[in-house]
Amino acid sequence: MDKKRVYLFGNGKAEGKADMKNLLGGKGANLAEMNLIGVPVPPGFTITTDVCNEYFEKGREKVVALLKAHVENGVKHTEELMGLKFGDVTNPLLLSVRSGARASMPGMMDTILNLGLNDEVVRGLVEKTGNERFAYDSYRRFVQMYGDVVLDMKPVNKEDIDPFEAIIQQVKAERGIQLDNEMTVDELKKLVVLFKEAIKKQTGKDFPDDPMEQLWGAICAVFDSWMNDRAILYRKMEGIPQEWGTAVNVMAMVFGNMGDTSATGVCFTRDAATGENRFNGEYLVNAQGEDVVAGIRTPQQITKEGSLRWAKLQNIDEDVRANEYPSMEEAMPEIYAELDALQAKLEEHYHDMQDMEFTVQEGKLWFLQTRSGKRTGTAMVKIAMDLLHEGQIDEKTALLRCEPNKLDELLHPVFDKTARKLARVLTRGLPASPGAACGQIVFFADDAEAWHADGKRVVMVRIETSPEDLAGMSAAEGILTARGGMTSHAAVVARGMGKCCVSGAGAIIVDYKTRTVDIDGTVLKEGDYISLNGTTGEVYFGEVNTRPAEVTGDFAELMKLCEKYSKLVVRTNADTPRDAEVARTFGAVGIGLCRTEHMFFENEKIKAMHEMILADSTEGREKALEKLLPYQKQDFYGILKCMDGLPVNIRLLDPPLHEFVPHDLAGQEAMAEDMGVNVKKIQNRVQALSESNPMLGLRGCRLGNTFPEITAMQTRAILGAAVQLKKEGYDPRPEIMVPLVGMVNELDAQEKVIRETAQKLFEEEGVEIPFKVGTMIEIPRAALTADKIAERAEYFSFGTNDLTQMTFGYSRDDIASFLPSYLEKKILDVDPFQVLDVNGVGQLVQMAVNKGRSVRKDLKCGICGEHGGEPSSVKFCHRAGLNYVSCSPFRVPIARLAAAQAAVEE
Ligand code: ADP
Ligand code: MG
Ligand code: MG
Repeated sequence: MDKKRVYLFGNGKAEGKADMKNLLGGKGANLAEMNLIGVPVPPGFTITTDVCNEYFEKGREKVVALLKAHVENGVKHTEELMGLKFGDVTNPLLLSVRSGARASMPGMMDTILNLGLNDEVVRGLVEKTGNERFAYDSYRRFVQMYGDVVLDMKPVNKEDIDPFEAIIQQVKAERGIQLDNEMTVDELKKLVVLFKEAIKKQTGKDFPDDPMEQLWGAICAVFDSWMNDRAILYRKMEGIPQEWGTAVNVMAMVFGNMGDTSATGVCFTRDAATGENRFNGEYLVNAQGEDVVAGIRTPQQITKEGSLRWAKLQNIDEDVRANEYPSMEEAMPEIYAELDALQAKLEEHYHDMQDMEFTVQEGKLWFLQTRSGKRTGTAMVKIAMDLLHEGQIDEKTALLRCEPNKLDELLHPVFDKTARKLARVLTRGLPASPGAACGQIVFFADDAEAWHADGKRVVMVRIETSPEDLAGMSAAEGILTARGGMTSHAAVVARGMGKCCVSGAGAIIVDYKTRTVDIDGTVLKEGDYISLNGTTGEVYFGEVNTRPAEVTGDFAELMKLCEKYSKLVVRTNADTPRDAEVARTFGAVGIGLCRTEHMFFENEKIKAMHEMILADSTEGREKALEKLLPYQKQDFYGILKCMDGLPVNIRLLDPPLHEFVPHDLAGQEAMAEDMGVNVKKIQNRVQALSESNPMLGLRGCRLGNTFPEITAMQTRAILGAAVQLKKEGYDPRPEIMVPLVGMVNELDAQEKVIRETAQKLFEEEGVEIPFKVGTMIEIPRAALTADKIAERAEYFSFGTNDLTQMTFGYSRDDIASFLPSYLEKKILDVDPFQVLDVNGVGQLVQMAVNKGRSVRKDLKCGICGEHGGEPSSVKFCHRAGLNYVSCSPFRVPIARLAAAQAAVEE
């Protein structure tokens, strides 16, 4: 049998239903469902998303032939239910043709209203309604929409004005009027004629007068719109596959523009911004469709409460409000009561906040659409928790209703909405770390610190950042870089700090010499104000106001629920007590990665570090390290104390030593003076440290194995701090982690140094601290030989940044040169440094877990790469049987939610 391509609905019956979204699209499925539950919807039919795919496979002709009988039948069905006739002069039925994909893509594709009008039918409409203005206004709108959408009259450049708008402006200018609704009926008639002339001139074809021809044109145009640039871009951003296709909904028109008892509007069952349980929305009397959103007239509020609130914000006096902008509740109380009852019914039916469109035609209410409403992160959490309390959904559903990444919005300061709308966008970079930042431009880390100390807010603008900039970054409100991707230094560090960052803004030229930055033609200097939107990647001119994030009670409650359901626990990556503190308040149950390299950069410490690097002998190095010891011990003391009773996994020194020495002449001269040596000596040392592939050079445990005295010093510092805490009555739980191990011998040698040093220290102090020695699994060979390594390692921590780098052979610092092209060409679906490559890297992880546990049954496994805070990667970690994930403090709640969802979904 021929497959079903068209589904009918109307008059309380429907062939489709809500759970058929894949086939009927969201709009079509819900139009069917509304019929089934007794919500008034104009009748019509839905052409399936399958047909959209057929359309692109087989072409227009074939598909029109396949559909012909079914569409004609659908039109007949609609005519019968409405008691009207399509194309008829005395009793005309008009249609709307609307797109509707599986996932909502608001405004991305095109809708055509009032279809079926021509020079004769419009006269019939005048006669039938006695409303000439209404008839011709509908007609000119139809010709305009049809011209734009079906006949491709829309300008290609978005700077160019729509040809029909140009005509409207011209007609209005001739009589010096401003608003569309000031046009006379004759002027509306004239518009239709001028529009048709413009179409003929530009396309060489006459406007189609035959309603059936109009209908086919519109149906095919909806399919075509699935492939327009806007839709393609939106799909890319939202990760919607092209194969999903769009459905086409054809339904009877109802008219909100038939006079003062007619209206159109949009409403929400709850507040989409705050999540408050208050029915709200906007409407316009005597208006059609898009008028509400188009901003031509000021829409009025639906509820009286909303209207009062609105008037207060707008500074409008009560009598002006009541007379000129009354709420629907006041102006149309009966319709309002019906609308209110139906909105409640819809929410109760779908158990979620609904976003609805309706039209009132001469006192009769019709619903045109309902869908689960888009909402902010705050609203998302509040609504889920409220629905749970109201008994509408259960705990598992509440968890699944929240999108982990959206929790981010709850954690960072945000731009004031109106301020943001008014802001001038200078350029756009990568949204590297979300949030809002506003401050004065500085170019150097020490300036950032100094200005910050003076009480100024600064934004650090750099070509790129390096570990030396850390303190400056920490002092800044936000960071803007010209280079670097989403896993660049600036991006990773900023996310870790919960600091707003826009990276890789290609259109900015930073000139450190003149202390200026050229942003796409606008030159700003040090001290000028700039604002960054880390959520969208936008860079704004001047000061745009922000407000701090709020963590509400609902949020805390959601986190409690997460704890109840998840198997995987969440630790944090933290290098300072401050970060550790923040993470603890977000529910981190330990530190999964404490990097030690950042601890070497402040004044005295970097000096001792330089001494160590310059030393020619083991004794020389030991002497320098002796100076570093108290500082390191102090740092670890702070972190272990803050994480009292929780595991703290500390990684031994990892980066190549050249990262600790200056590469520019000025820096080298300063260092020479500081050290009391010749510049030449510094330069020679820098030269000697330089490697052609530092990522694969002297770093990780290769450092500790080459210079065991570094490992010994760090062990003394870590365990020394723990001993001190223990003596003070605390419960420190250090774990010492050896990085970049590729074979068991590397670990073995380091472990010996660690255990011997520990033994000696414990004897000296007379106190023993239980501690673990583990390793990072971040080199493919380590994963392949994990059973061997597990004989020595007490735990594994997957360093998925390096593991991804070495499995793919992609340098994470250079990926920006080809990643965009790879994504564009679909060679890669996503950046593997952001989303764990489950099929490749994931296999190594799984293999290492299995092999490791085959030797050591209770082997603790965790992940500490950037992936530890990315929801789909966290879900993989759950499936792979890891014990924990570790991520930046500001991603802890996100990971907790993802972990709970993974457990619930199982
Ligand atoms: P979008 O997906 O962009 O919201 P829609 O298909 O919902 O596009 O159409 C846009 C607007 O057109 C609707 O909000 C509604 O006001 C109007 N509209 C659509 N269909 C009809 C109809 N049958 N009768 C009256 N107005 C309609
Ligand atoms: Mg809509
Ligand atoms: Mg690493």
